[in-house]
Amino acid sequence: MAKGKIKVTTENIFPIIKKFLYSDHEIFLRELIANATDATKKLKTLSSAGEFKGEMGDTAIEVIVDKKAKTITVKDKGVGMTKEDVEKYINQIAFSGAEEFVDKFKDQEDAAGIIGKFGLGFYSAYMVAERVQIITKSYKDEPAVIWECDGSPEYSLKSHKKEERGTEIVLHIAEDSTEFLEDVRIKTLLDKYCKFMPVAIKFGQKSEWIDNKKGKKDKDGKVEKEEIKVDNIVNNPSPAWTKSPSSLKGEDYNSFYKELYPMNFEDPLFHIHLNVDYPFNLTGILYFPKISANMEVQKDKIQLYSKQVFITDSVEGIVPDFLTLLHGVIDSPDIPLNVSRSYLQADGAVKKIASHISKKVSDKLEELFKKDRADFEAKWDDIKIFIEYGILSDEKFAERAKKFTLYKTTEGKYYTMDELTEKITPAQKDKDDKLVYIYTSDVEAQHSFINAATTKGYEVLLMDTHLTSHLVGKFEQTLENTTWVRVDADTIDKLINKDEKIPSKLDEKQQEKLKPVIEEVVEKAKFTVQFESMSETDQPMTIVQPEFMRRMKEMQAVGGGGMAMFGGAMPDTYNLVVNTNHPLISKILNEKDKAKQTEITKRTTDLALLSQNMLKGEELTKFINQSIELI
Ligand code: ADP
Ligand code: MG
Repeated sequence: MAKGKIKVTTENIFPIIKKFLYSDHEIFLRELIANATDATKKLKTLSSAGEFKGEMGDTAIEVIVDKKAKTITVKDKGVGMTKEDVEKYINQIAFSGAEEFVDKFKDQEDAAGIIGKFGLGFYSAYMVAERVQIITKSYKDEPAVIWECDGSPEYSLKSHKKEERGTEIVLHIAEDSTEFLEDVRIKTLLDKYCKFMPVAIKFGQKSEWIDNKKGKKDKDGKVEKEEIKVDNIVNNPSPAWTKSPSSLKGEDYNSFYKELYPMNFEDPLFHIHLNVDYPFNLTGILYFPKISANMEVQKDKIQLYSKQVFITDSVEGIVPDFLTLLHGVIDSPDIPLNVSRSYLQADGAVKKIASHISKKVSDKLEELFKKDRADFEAKWDDIKIFIEYGILSDEKFAERAKKFTLYKTTEGKYYTMDELTEKITPAQKDKDDKLVYIYTSDVEAQHSFINAATTKGYEVLLMDTHLTSHLVGKFEQTLENTTWVRVDADTIDKLINKDEKIPSKLDEKQQEKLKPVIEEVVEKAKFTVQFESMSETDQPMTIVQPEFMRRMKEMQAVGGGGMAMFGGAMPDTYNLVVNTNHPLISKILNEKDKAKQTEITKRTTDLALLSQNMLKGEELTKFINQSIELI
């Protein structure tokens, strides 16, 4: 029997491992099963190269929990290790890695992330075990050995009677980690980390119902079922993303989506199969989930794998920000997994991956648009939030998105920007030759304004996401000589100002006389009284909310840059536009009885407020009661 001292200068490395890696204890299982998987794949490679001539047999990896003995065993039928292998790979290499790890990262918070990279994989067993045994027999014709170490730098290594090829790692679970002796806990971990590992993993047995062997029939003449126990395989060793896209059908992608998210009942809208091998290695499937613009969107649904081993579902910094709303998997051995977030975001390879994914997504969207526009239009309301977000956050995407971004009108028609521009150019240029795009955020609330605009032959776009004000701001910067206004930002003649003058029935003096009369009955801080010479048939008073102030306020609400100067929430301000040509306005001006004048003015402003849904509380009750009296 060999006794030795593990070559490490730092005494008591195990307490350090345990302390540093505290938050991530559960990854021990992933590390051990990943090693078992590697060993199995190595043997398969040796076998196909003719270097291993024996029978492969059933190579499933087994996880065995013995609650009584307080052990967890991970058992594989891979290459195994000779005595020399154990000396070399477990005692020396792994520990020199551990030493380096401790030296480098003893002061670092996210030390847990460094596991694996420094060969700490196997030693992560000590996060939950007080004693570990390795019983292993190499595929080479050499006797088996048993290695044992209780967490002190001393280990023992002796020969063993194990006959079967492969490795068993036996963890003697520490008192503070007995939670891992619960089947459900292990089941959850297997499901989280090992769901798509490339070698079958067995955990216990499960029931299956088959036709009974004796052919016994029930009273309806049907063959009775019989319960049998079969191995419970917990993973799918060949998930869809590892297959070639040409071998998969639409339903295969949908069923893989269900495999990823068993709780999601809706099919995704469409998928993108990623497959790159140069200049980096990346595979995966991304799904556009079905969501509506107003629904709370869930981030962090994309899962990141490295050669089918689950790493994380926090893909920030790897996937472009606007795509973190997508679902699916990304698998790449080229993503440096074991480093901090800030390092990741600055990494050149990661940046390339992000821009590649962004390009793939826009290519796919363009392809869908070109292939079947009607179908693309049908999906538009569900996908527009991703695209708007992408246009705002990713310049290159914004450029590519011009080809397939759609604008929906209140009449339910969809146009690309080019089509829209062509369509509105004849009617929607103002006196300065600027093209004016009109939009609405709420078809119901802004109905009277929309009605006025469409009657004039204008197109009104439906733009109802919380990104709208940022988006139109961007369009004004990038589309030369255009402005964007919400349909209720001004009265219809001013919305697109063509400088068509209607003579006014009230001169300036008369307007000045009237102004204080109106100001008296409205909240002065909120409303600015303005006069405009409109058609006699237009409303006597209209309330509009100027575009600029409203947009500022909205951008502040969703966190736009540069808004800090206003400090706190900005107040809502409106213009109360008085139609100088309306007979009612002349009537107010000419009313000699002061009390009566105030009353008519109040009723007229109340009506304007009411049509904007702005008459509320006591004022509304009063208005209703007075109206009933009148009737
Ligand atoms: P890594 O997997 O990154 O190489 P580990 O600490 O996880 O680092 O493992 C160290 C080495 O121990 C492996 O490279 C391998 O040579 C050996 N090893 C670990 N587990 C097994 C196993 N189940 N079968 C065969 N060899 C193993
Ligand atoms: Mg490993």
